[in-house]
Amino acid sequence: MLSNHYDVIVIGAGPGGSVAARNLARFGHKVLLIEKRERIGYPVRCGEASTNLEDLQTYGPVDEDCIESIINGLFIYGPDGVNIEVPKPNTGIMLNRLKFDPCLAKLAENDGAELVTLARATYVSDVENGVRKMRIACGQGAGERIEEVTAKMVIAADGVESLVGRMVGLKCGQLPGSTCTGVDIEVQGLLTKPDYLTFWQGHDFINDGYIWSFPKQKSNVTNFGAGFLVPKAGQPNILDVTMEWLNKLYPGAKINHVVGGLVPVSSTLKSYTLDRFALVGDAAHHTNPLTGGGIAAAMRAGRFCAQTVHEGLTTGSGDAGNLTAKYLKTYEKRCYNYFGKTHDFEFKFRRFLLALNKQEQVGLYKVLQGFALSGYKKSAFLKTPMQTAKYLYKFWKFK
Ligand SMILES: Cc1cc2nc3c(=O)[nH]c(=O)nc-3n(C[C@H](O)[C@H](O)[C@H](O)COP(=O)(O)OP(=O)(O)OC[C@H]3O[C@@H](n4cnc5c(N)ncnc54)[C@H](O)[C@@H]3O)c2cc1C
Repeated sequence: MLSNHYDVIVIGAGPGGSVAARNLARFGHKVLLIEKRERIGYPVRCGEASTNLEDLQTYGPVDEDCIESIINGLFIYGPDGVNIEVPKPNTGIMLNRLKFDPCLAKLAENDGAELVTLARATYVSDVENGVRKMRIACGQGAGERIEEVTAKMVIAADGVESLVGRMVGLKCGQLPGSTCTGVDIEVQGLLTKPDYLTFWQGHDFINDGYIWSFPKQKSNVTNFGAGFLVPKAGQPNILDVTMEWLNKLYPGAKINHVVGGLVPVSSTLKSYTLDRFALVGDAAHHTNPLTGGGIAAAMRAGRFCAQTVHEGLTTGSGDAGNLTAKYLKTYEKRCYNYFGKTHDFEFKFRRFLLALNKQEQVGLYKVLQGFALSGYKKSAFLKTPMQTAKYLYKFWKFK
């Protein structure tokens, strides 16, 4: 049985929701964290790589048990054999999300949040008398029951499709031009350099996305996958394309299992808060629009959201706190200043890169290759001044 009333209800125990719930519980609020699935984090629909270590660590290092490998660099196979190596010791980690997601939810629970699985948000009302009402379907099959609860604040961290966001009238649906479909195939053994993330990108491979190989050393498997913009009717689907590339690059690879999903690559939504309501993570399109990575941003957004809600709950007049849409813009601003600006730039860069023809793309890869080879010295660009200036101008003009 749930309580009748909570300070905050967080929907979705993915990385964004669990971090938001944990932070709010630590501030002393009465928090309910609900997850519709029975097993948190399962099935994993993710390449499991992250190069934003700082954002993954809410209150200290990530639990050793959740780390598969340390990432010491990136290797990109580019068009026409122009490859780019980016050695960078300790630049990120390969996670085991089957362990990581439950671990984050458990931390939220240990810090005082009430965690309920097999609990699906089915209805969120408008604000009435300083609260939102919710209906939650708990349990499954014949044992399912509907619980009605109220909360001063509802946070929906319900992932890419965010039915809850749409339920309350936010325009958070996925549009074809700014959504990727991704497939991840777990392959037995380590296909590529074990401590590197390897990519294939450009006209010789997949131009409107990329192919990845992310080895998980402890489990001795590789997440091999691909993602590209949702194909138009008649174009090959992502599963067929990924299988074809796996067979071409690693014939005979032993497949353990295949998962797929959507990735929002539109850059952050323009607006994702309402009175006593906010979206977090994929639901708010916090995903990096160039790489499609969203674990770290969801966690960072979860923290910002919790911080803002806590301040609103404790500084407003009366028990209900100040959680108006206007006030909650503070949360949107925090996200924008921290990663949103960069994501907007990367959104433009992705569209620019994909719009280049093969010859132009090869030229750009050569410029970037020189930069990487120099050890990321800006002076490397002086060796190719005409090329660099040409691309900067083109990028600046690109709409
Ligand atoms: C194929 C693929 C590969 C990817 N690879 C990477 C990668 O390598 N690195 C990276 O950083 N990111 C990657 N991503 C993106 C990453 O998985 C997401 O950005 C990240 O999981 C977002 O976290 P989140 O907490 O916002 O949402 P999610 O992790 O999606 O969590 C949302 C949770 O909400 C629950 N939920 C939904 N609706 C309800 C409801 N009504 N009631 C209760 N619970 C609900 C869901 O069951 C889910 O547990 C990949 C995505 C895909 C599809």
